[in-house]
Amino acid sequence: MADKLLFDRIDEPGLDTIEVYQRRGGYESLKRALRMTPEEVLQNLLDSGLRGRGGAGFAMGKKVSFLPRGAMDKYLVCNADESEPGTFKDRELMQKSPHMLIEGMIIAAYAAGANRSFIYIRGEYELQAMKLEAALIEARQAGFLGEDILGSGHSQTLVLHRGAGAYICGEETGLLDSLEGKRGNPRLKPPFPANQGLYQGPTLINNVETLATVPHIIKMSGTEYAKLGVENSAGTKLISISGNVQRPGNYEIELGMKSRDIIYGLAGGPLPGREIKFWFPGGSSSPVLKPEDLELGYDFDSMAKAGSMLGSGAIIVVDDSNSVVDVALTLAKFYRHESCGKCTPCREGTNWTVKMLQRIHDGDATPMDLDIIASVQDQIMGNCLCVLGDAMAMPLSSMVAKFRDEFEQYIEEARERAGLGAAPDPS
Ligand code: NAD
Repeated sequence: MADKLLFDRIDEPGLDTIEVYQRRGGYESLKRALRMTPEEVLQNLLDSGLRGRGGAGFAMGKKVSFLPRGAMDKYLVCNADESEPGTFKDRELMQKSPHMLIEGMIIAAYAAGANRSFIYIRGEYELQAMKLEAALIEARQAGFLGEDILGSGHSQTLVLHRGAGAYICGEETGLLDSLEGKRGNPRLKPPFPANQGLYQGPTLINNVETLATVPHIIKMSGTEYAKLGVENSAGTKLISISGNVQRPGNYEIELGMKSRDIIYGLAGGPLPGREIKFWFPGGSSSPVLKPEDLELGYDFDSMAKAGSMLGSGAIIVVDDSNSVVDVALTLAKFYRHESCGKCTPCREGTNWTVKMLQRIHDGDATPMDLDIIASVQDQIMGNCLCVLGDAMAMPLSSMVAKFRDEFEQYIEEARERAGLGAAPDPS
């Protein structure tokens, strides 16, 4: 296991102040980066193999390289609208080490040639917003933000913008609309923000953890960073573990660590006498995995090969005291509530799914309804304007496919409770 990078000394008192942060080597990477050319900084990002930590895992250096070169207004936006259920690692990072994010943003903006930058933070993160505002004042006073930073010729503004608590505003184009003062609805992609983003200008958007990793890459060099982790999954990853485990919380791991060692080793496994029924490896929008998948390494490729995804790095553990139907219903209700309603498959699909699951719950369904639920998920997937619809359809499909017997048993028992008797034979 590599030493911790982002969570190294994360609990040190005062790390949120510039004084302690600098005493621990903070802003040295910025000074080093500003002595390089933007192209050299970009090369380090490319060499590092860093993949976006927000959920999609897109190569960060590649994304920076997509921004057009030349003198024009370019933007950097940090997506701090962390709202994927089960995900709470950016929250701890911003609260305890806000300067790490600010330093990473100045370096990334320098590489991208962006002079205007924003942090879009979810409305519920009030304490974290306060910490960031205080840190921004310190960074400006120290000359790390503003005109001609440290005599490098690079100038940058950084504005903190608070959202109002909508999951859809974490979707990058919904976020951009919201930042522009409009209702946060997703835009059609392409064009991708790298070409046409904020105020129609080229925009680099990255998640908090991704940007906070940048100072570590510059400190170590991209090639050294790439040695951490496993193939296609370089580096360390902050993970949030929640659900039925003994020690929920945030941990930093080297990618590729065995999933069992994370859930049982770090998080203590389920409560005594309980068994894991299934787990979400990458937030509530990831297809569920079963206990036999615990032997897999926790990295992008292994999770994809198992039919799921690493996503935002949020592991949610569900033990055998829970019903898969209740989990599915809770999850579907969340996505129905958060659907912006702009496109039909998501607006109608999330609504139908909730209604059908509610029927199962109320004892008013037959096993045939499971086929309809599965077919609705198929029709949602890949047919929406953004990933919100898929975010419900992917885990839902996996739950119905992997726990069909339990769904059927639930249907029979709920019918009995409702006094409807056995479901009619479909033949
Ligand atoms: P995506 O795959 O569409 O895009 C990933 C990133 O790469 C985007 O920034 C996109 O603009 C860029 N990109 C992709 N192709 C490009 C191209 N050809 N040219 C230029 N840029 C390109 O995924 P997404 O919609 O950004 O993210 C989806 C993920 O977000 C989900 O898988 C989910 O795990 C995650 N998510 C996370 C949270 C959270 O709180 N962290 C919340 C909701 C969803």
